[in-house]
Amino acid sequence: MTVLVTGGAGYIGSHMVWELLDAGESVVVLDRLSTGFEWAVAPEAKLVVGDVADRDLVGQIIRDNHVDAIIHFAGSIVVPESVADPLAYYENNTSKTRTLIETAVREGVPHFIFSSTAAVYGGAGLEPVREDARLAPESPYGLSKLMSEWMLRDAGLAHDIRYTALRYFNVAGADPKGRTGQSTPGATHLIKVACETALGKRPFMQVFGTDYPTPDGTCMRDYIHVSDLAAAHRLALQRLRAGGESLVANCGYSHGYSVLEVIESVRRAFGRDFDVRMGDRRPGDAAAVVANSELARKELGWTPQRDDLDLIVNDALAWERILTTKNSVRN
Ligand code: UDP
Repeated sequence: MTVLVTGGAGYIGSHMVWELLDAGESVVVLDRLSTGFEWAVAPEAKLVVGDVADRDLVGQIIRDNHVDAIIHFAGSIVVPESVADPLAYYENNTSKTRTLIETAVREGVPHFIFSSTAAVYGGAGLEPVREDARLAPESPYGLSKLMSEWMLRDAGLAHDIRYTALRYFNVAGADPKGRTGQSTPGATHLIKVACETALGKRPFMQVFGTDYPTPDGTCMRDYIHVSDLAAAHRLALQRLRAGGESLVANCGYSHGYSVLEVIESVRRAFGRDFDVRMGDRRPGDAAAVVANSELARKELGWTPQRDDLDLIVNDALAWERILTTKNSVRN
């Protein structure tokens, strides 16, 4: 049995590939390498460069490798870009996922794990959000993922395929063994931006808004270590293989940190100060987005191992340093 990981050359996908290989699984990666990197794919995994909507290619991969599960990460993930070019997001995230599900059904793949997002909830309150909260995506990105969840639900009712959709909160950190990490240039995510600033790759960074209704006035997010997220997928795979029913579950730690707390943690990890400027709110940011993750803990038997902001930041900073070396070797 082999697991097909789409988007396995990307940030979360490349961690998933290591997680599966470490657990003794056989893995094939399908990635267009549009934003991912060939070097990010573990050498023990087979890499096929191609598109998830290429029915013939995907069918061939499934048959040749006896694929019994697809973990689908491939997709576009930049929220403002999805606002500027919604149809590209509905094409890349929704239409292509539809085609992939269709191929999975046609080829008799029984298990499907889908990377969804907290963006399906829209603006959450300060309280941790449960899976049965109101679904009100505020961006084409969030809606493109929610539509995919719904397609999976309906396909699961009509066909012999069971799925797990995991709604990620703020994924951060890097492989503690330094094998992969967030490598996309021009990243906008807070922890990566702060690490880049600490290392002098950016002259300064900004805090987007200090007048939110939160304890210190800056936004709160539930930061989850990418390795814990990969572990949740592996447990979801085990559960599906053991006959578990389809499931939609949040992946976060159930508590939040403010932007200022994150920056303090990066200062601690770096050991020195760096230039942080207070700025205006960024359009579209919710004051707080925190998961209620009881369902994942109960259904998947998921016990996070790296639920510690300093640990997340240390791993992110260590990866940022490795990336500097990699890039200077390549240039
Ligand atoms: N943020 C910030 N400065 C930055 C990047 C992000 O103040 O350079 C804030 C952002 O406004 C949000 C939080 O950090 O409140 C997390 O943002 P990120 O883009 O990492 O993830 P999001 O929650 O938007 O998916």
